[in-house]
Amino acid sequence: MEGEQSHRRVVVVGGGLAGALLAKHLQFDADVLLIDSKEYFEVPWARCRPMVDASFAERSLIQHTDYLSNARVISSPAIEVSQSEVLTAEGRAFGYDYLVIATGHEDSRPRSRKERLHQFEQENEKIRTSSSVLIIGGGRTGVQLAGEIAVDYPEKKVTLVHEGSRLLQFLGPKASEKALKRLRSKLVEVLLDQSVNLNSTTNGDGVFTTSAGRSVSADCHFVCGGRPLSSSWLKQTMLEDKLDRFGRLMVEGNLRVRGLKNVFAIGSIIDITDKQGCLAYKHAAVAAKNIKLLLKGGKEEKLALYKPSSSLAFVSLGRKVAVVQFSFTTVSGHIPGLFTSKDLFVKWNRKQMGLEAHIIS
Ligand SMILES: Cc1cc2nc3c(=O)[nH]c(=O)nc-3n(C[C@H](O)[C@H](O)[C@H](O)COP(=O)(O)OP(=O)(O)OC[C@H]3O[C@@H](n4cnc5c(N)ncnc54)[C@H](O)[C@@H]3O)c2cc1C
Repeated sequence: MEGEQSHRRVVVVGGGLAGALLAKHLQFDADVLLIDSKEYFEVPWARCRPMVDASFAERSLIQHTDYLSNARVISSPAIEVSQSEVLTAEGRAFGYDYLVIATGHEDSRPRSRKERLHQFEQENEKIRTSSSVLIIGGGRTGVQLAGEIAVDYPEKKVTLVHEGSRLLQFLGPKASEKALKRLRSKLVEVLLDQSVNLNSTTNGDGVFTTSAGRSVSADCHFVCGGRPLSSSWLKQTMLEDKLDRFGRLMVEGNLRVRGLKNVFAIGSIIDITDKQGCLAYKHAAVAAKNIKLLLKGGKEEKLALYKPSSSLAFVSLGRKVAVVQFSFTTVSGHIPGLFTSKDLFVKWNRKQMGLEAHIIS
């Protein structure tokens, strides 16, 4: 078994918003090991801008080792967990005193930052050389991507097909309406209540047929569906009976997995219903506080409780305009865009990681 040290060992599985920040919080209090399927952290709300401007990814893809100066990083998916260790796909076992599961959503992105940068360049090239683009899926990724392409390449024909009756169904109807209006004003054709069968294009002629019988011509297409939770790997492990019917880990108020003293879970994978990224940060802060307390031998009654709170969700629609939903209202246009769309909170994310806003070469 690897990782035997004099300090207590904390293993964090998943280096997304929640896990990355938790590992950073704890790196000087324990022997911290971050196990992530990728070598880098990717700012999730900045995923679409690099598809039209590949250079943007230089700041939004952050190598884990850049913010974890005092922790170890293993880039390999975790496949098994027992009462004392985590096993990775490469067949290595890592012992823990405290374990944090933060595997969020399934991730098929390349393992290395270099490969991910290359992928963005390829996507950028694909969009640049096409005169028509089909986007399938009107959730936040599909809507943001349509906005990015429509603004940066106004001469291209963009069609967005969504199987629901409104865009951005995770937000309120007002946000959906505002996003729809904005996309249509930028000449994006939005087709609701229909899906696209990707096999409907014959001989690769770039003509797709929707379930409503509409033909859509497109030189390239992007499928922007939601990603399932990454919890299937926990089935057939000691955490199997801690998963609810949606595949979420059931946690107590202090973010420990129900009935376990030394296993925490944070981020999208838990059964607390607020799934927003800004709350994943709060989960990380509460879990870090509690693990620090336990590491120091503090009393169980002193464990902090996570209080679900309202969150902010923004969807940028190109470089200048955004729809922002607060708990009390929804706003859209250039003013919210000023705060969100230009930089997509990358500076803020980098600051959370203790990094400069810009890369200093
Ligand atoms: C386009 C877009 C826009 C968004 N906008 C907003 C917004 O405006 N406001 C907001 O609050 N939220 C927003 N979100 C949601 C937010 O990004 C998520 O809530 C957040 O990413 C959840 O963080 P997480 O750390 O739980 O999971 P994730 O970010 O999904 O990270 C999970 C990590 O675990 C890794 N992993 C998965 N399985 C394994 C495994 N078996 N072994 C090892 N590693 C594994 C993955 O590689 C990944 O690094 C947005 C999301 C997207 C995609």
